[in-house]
Amino acid sequence: MARRTVARLTGLSAAAVTRHCRDLVELGLIREAEEAAVRGGMGRPHVPVDIDVDRHLIGGVHIAHEHFTLAALDLRGRLRASERVPHEGTAPDAVLSAIADRFPAFVEARLSGWTPVAVGVAVGGWVDPQQGIVIEHTSLGWRDIPVGETLGRALGASVRVDNHARALACAERMFGNVRAHGSFAHIFVGNVVDAAIMTGGVPHHGPRSGAGEIAHLPVGEAGVRCSRGHYGCFEATVSDRAWAHRAVADGITTRPSLTALAGRAMAGDRRARELFLDRARMIGRGAAVLFDVLNPEVLVVTELGVLQFADCLEALRDEVAARSNVCADTRTSVVAGSFGVDATLAVAGGSVELDAIYRSPLSLGVVSGRTVPGVPLGGRT
Ligand SMILES: [Zn+2]
Repeated sequence: MARRTVARLTGLSAAAVTRHCRDLVELGLIREAEEAAVRGGMGRPHVPVDIDVDRHLIGGVHIAHEHFTLAALDLRGRLRASERVPHEGTAPDAVLSAIADRFPAFVEARLSGWTPVAVGVAVGGWVDPQQGIVIEHTSLGWRDIPVGETLGRALGASVRVDNHARALACAERMFGNVRAHGSFAHIFVGNVVDAAIMTGGVPHHGPRSGAGEIAHLPVGEAGVRCSRGHYGCFEATVSDRAWAHRAVADGITTRPSLTALAGRAMAGDRRARELFLDRARMIGRGAAVLFDVLNPEVLVVTELGVLQFADCLEALRDEVAARSNVCADTRTSVVAGSFGVDATLAVAGGSVELDAIYRSPLSLGVVSGRTVPGVPLGGRT
């Protein structure tokens, strides 16, 4: 993009744009795009600026119920490498030290010559990003765990932590298919069920970042009892584990694994596919409530079946259309997450950090121990 276009879009003066661009070039965030220079006429050619994807990588960690995912993203949010590691135990100390042990080896083996300049961590449940604390993660049984401080010390890096529904909403805002929309909601359905609310391009947090806690919405099945002793809660009904047990009870799989169920569905097992369709309809109930409460421009859904099977997305849309009072056209306003089955969790962690960098680019200079002007640490060695 030409600097004068930047000036027009931001309302900054040409001098201010020149100054900011110089700072951002020095930080390795943008570069002069010589290849796109506009020549012709007399005088100096106009050289546009572009995001510099060759200077910095951002590390990412996603912590799930059964495994953690390590990843590296470039500044455009593109996945450069990722690795999934099963948990040996789910106690917080065991998981966090396993991540800290594995991360340097991942960098060494997969990112030849690169050092991630900062690390973002995404995890389900109630997360307070200000404090870097996981306040509550029901399926892992974590409560008040200082993930940011613990991993920051162990990795010797700047570490930011956020809820994965919010992290992926930020990724959608920066790089996803809904980036043209300022207002959207995101539902993440895994072993925990969370939502994120984006208004005016900013995620809504509320006190202690408790917003998006939809696990106990009473839209699940009446006979299902949650960990708090309520009946009919959303998460207890649709979580990965609940649905995997349903597949075993129905005789579709022999062990309670949603991945195994997806494998059956991919292989053409009609009953497995039907079970995913049922889940999509159940998610549609919660989605319809979110629609009427928030009236977002778009609702993004991240769930294995919806990401993988077009008819699951259709089933979810039909349910939202049948139940929501304000959703005018589900075809355009209910969509699947942008990052696909394989990359979604890998993208989540790094997006926490990328969101901070895009909101406050000069913070990268602080992270890397330098203030502008200067060359930041990290990047290619
Ligand atoms: Zn409940």
